[in-house]
Amino acid sequence: MCGSDDDLRELFLAELILECAAIRHASRYDAHGLAELRAANERLQAAGDPAAAEEAFHRLLVAPAPPRVRWALEPLRRALRPHRVEAERCAVAHEGVIRALERGNHGGAERRLRRHLLCALPRTAPQAA
Ligand SMILES: [Zn+2]
Repeated sequence: MCGSDDDLRELFLAELILECAAIRHASRYDAHGLAELRAANERLQAAGDPAAAEEAFHRLLVAPAPPRVRWALEPLRRALRPHRVEAERCAVAHEGVIRALERGNHGGAERRLRRHLLCALPRTAPQAA
C-alpha cells in the first residue's frame, strides 16, 4: 500500500523510468507483437476492469525487455493499480505509442509513453517540470 501522495508519485516515476528504458532498449516489435498491442488497446476501451486492461497493455509493451526489467515492474503495477487514470485517455495515448513503434521510431514511442505516464501522476502531487 502507498503511504502518501509523495510515495505514490515516487512509484509512478519508478514505473515511468523502467518502462521508458524498456522501450528504448527493446530490439524490435514484430508484426505479431504490434497486433497484440493494438488488440490489447482495443480491449482497454471495452474493458469492465480498465485498470487490469491498462496493466495488460503495458505488460505487452515491455514484453521485449529483459526479464529483470519486467520483474521489477510487477510490484509497482500492483501498488499503482487503484490509482490508474480513466481508460479512454490511456487508449488515445497508447495509439500514439503503437504508431511510433510501427514506424520503428523507438525514441518517439518513448517520448509518447513518458508523456502518457506523466499524465497519470497523481493529480494531488506537484506536476513534473
Ligand atoms: Zn497506459
